[in-house]
Amino acid sequence: MKASQSFLATLKEAPSDAEVVSHKLMVRAGLIRKLSAGIYNYLPLGLKVIRKVENIIREEMNRAGAIELLMPMIQPAELWQETGRWEKMGPELLRIKDRHERDFLIQPTSEEVITDLARNEIKSYKQLPINFYQIQTKFRDERRPRFGIMRGREFSMKDAYSFDRDVEGLKKSYQIMFDAYTKIFQRMGLKFRAVTADNGAIGGSGSQEFHVIADTGEDAIVYCPSSDYAANLEAAVSLPLLGSRAAAQQSMQKVVTPTQTNCLEVANFLNIPIETTVKSLLFAVDQEKGPAKLFMLLLRGDHDLNEVKASKVPGMAESRFATEAEIKQACNAPAGYLGPVGIAPDVKVVADHTVANMSDFVCGANLAGHHLTGVNWGRDLPEPLVMDLRNAVIGDPSPDGKGVVDICRGIEVGHVFQLGTRYSEAMGCTYLDQQGKSQPMVMGCYGIGVTRLLGAAIEQGHDERGIIWPISMAPFEVVICPMNYDKSEQVKAAADQLHEQLIAAGIDVILDDRGERPGAMFADWELIGAPFRVVIGERGLVDAQVEFKGRTDAESQNISITEIKDKVI
Ligand code: ATP
Ligand code: MG
Ligand code: MG
Ligand code: MG
Repeated sequence: MKASQSFLATLKEAPSDAEVVSHKLMVRAGLIRKLSAGIYNYLPLGLKVIRKVENIIREEMNRAGAIELLMPMIQPAELWQETGRWEKMGPELLRIKDRHERDFLIQPTSEEVITDLARNEIKSYKQLPINFYQIQTKFRDERRPRFGIMRGREFSMKDAYSFDRDVEGLKKSYQIMFDAYTKIFQRMGLKFRAVTADNGAIGGSGSQEFHVIADTGEDAIVYCPSSDYAANLEAAVSLPLLGSRAAAQQSMQKVVTPTQTNCLEVANFLNIPIETTVKSLLFAVDQEKGPAKLFMLLLRGDHDLNEVKASKVPGMAESRFATEAEIKQACNAPAGYLGPVGIAPDVKVVADHTVANMSDFVCGANLAGHHLTGVNWGRDLPEPLVMDLRNAVIGDPSPDGKGVVDICRGIEVGHVFQLGTRYSEAMGCTYLDQQGKSQPMVMGCYGIGVTRLLGAAIEQGHDERGIIWPISMAPFEVVICPMNYDKSEQVKAAADQLHEQLIAAGIDVILDDRGERPGAMFADWELIGAPFRVVIGERGLVDAQVEFKGRTDAESQNISITEIKDKVI
C-alpha cells in the first residue's frame, strides 16, 4: 500500500466533545469521523483495523466450530412480539414503519431472528448442537452515546447463538465460547478480566462479561487479587455467597459502633428520598469518638447540600463534607485503616482521578478491614449499586472467602450468556429427541463489541504522541519513510524495492510516498501508531543500512535492509 493511494486524514486537534483519549486519538489519527450523535463514518484506516479485529474473531469462532451467517439489520416486529420484547424494550429499541405502516425495528441483537431460523430449519437431535454467528451492524438508541465508537448508537457486534439438546450441552457450548473469547482477547494483546455478570434484560441463567481494564471504563469490577473471584457490581451483590442484604447488615453490626450507620439509615433520618441518580454524597464525620467515621449519603442532584449539611446525623458530633485531605488520606489508606469514604463536591483531583463535577466522586474506604481504593464510580450510577457495593465490601472477607476484594474499572468488550429455554419456549423452537419426543432447544448467546474493541485497545495503548496498537490490530505493521522520495532516485528505488519485498513476505506495509518533511511524516505515523518504522536515506544506503524503530523504542537503530523481515515477523 502506498500512502498516496490511501486516505490519511490526521488532525492536529481533537474534537471538543471527545472526553476520553481513545475518542480523541481515533479522530486525530483519521480512523473515524462523526456523522451524528453515536453514529460514525469509519474512514479507510479505521475500517482496516475493524477488519483485523473481525478476522481474529472469525478465525477463533470458526476454530471453535461456530458457523457464520448473516441476519438482516431490519427485523419485523412480529418476532419480537412473540417473546414480549417489542413491548418490554424501552426507547433503546429503534422502531420503524414501512410504507404499509407495518412495524419493524433495527436490530440491537438477534435472539428472535436466530430462534425463528432454528425452529424452521432444525428438526432433529442429530442436527444439534449447533452454533451460528454473525458480524453485523447493531443499533441501540443509547441514552448517552459517548466516548466515540465505544458507546455508539450504531456499532458492529459479533453475536453468536448456540443451540443444544439439554443444559449439559449448553454448558459445554458456553465453555467453548468462553475459551474462544479468552483466545480472541489474548491475540489482541489486551489486558482483560472475565467477570461474573447479571443477565440483565436478555434473561436466562449464568453469564460472564469480558472487561478490558482501563481507568476510563464505565463499569466497576469487584475482584479479589488473591483468588480468581471477579464480578461486576450487580453480580457482586447478587451472589448468594455474599448473603442477603440483611446478612450484610448484620455483619456490619459486628464492626460498627452505635454511632455508625449506613447511608440508608442516614437518608431515613434526614428524611431524604434516595433517588436513582447519584449526584453527590455527604459525609458525616465524628472525630470525637476515635478514628474518623464517615458515612455516605446519596443525594438527589437538586438537593440543597447546605441544608443537608446542617442536619445532624444520629449520635454524631458534627456533620460536614469531607475535606480534600481526608479524601486523599482515605484513598491512600493502608490496610487496617478504618474509615472514610470520600466525597468531593469541590475537589478537583483526588488520587489521580479527575473529579470533573459534583456528580463524580472518588472513594477510598477500608471498612471492616476491606480495602477499597480509588474508585471513581461517577456518573449516572443507579443508587442500589452504591448501596449494595457498600454492603458487599462490608460483608464476609470476600465473596469466596479467599481474600479481600478490590475494585478496578473496565470496558465491557464481550459477554457470554446461558439463555436456557427462554426464547425457544416463547417461540416454539423445538427438536425431536432420540425417543421422538419434542423438546425445546437450550440456547446460549455470545457477543463481542467489534467496534468498541478499537477504543478499548487505544485506552490501554497510547502515549502523548498517539496510538500504540497491539501488532495484531494495527492498521499497518510497518511504515517505510523514505527521505526525499520525490527527489532521490536512489532512495525511491530502494524504498519501492523494500515495499515489494515486504509485501511478498506477507507483511502489512505502507510506503509513505507523499514527499512530506520527516518531522510531519514521523508525527503522522506515531499518531496512527504503526508498530515499526523504517527510514531510508541516501547516507545509509551507501552501506545498505536503514533506520529501524519500534513504536515504543526510545531510539532507532541502524540495521541492514535484509534484517528488516526478521525484526518484524
Ligand atoms: P453495555 O453494558 O456497555 O451497555 P451491553 O451489556 O448492553 O453493553 P451486550 O448486550 O452484552 O451489551 O452486547 C454485547 C457487546 O456489544 C458488549 O459486550 C459490548 O462490547 C458491545 N456493545 C454494547 N453496546 C454497545 C454500544 N452502544 N456501542 C458499542 N459497543 C456496544
Ligand atoms: Mg447496553
Ligand atoms: Mg453491560
Ligand atoms: Mg452485556
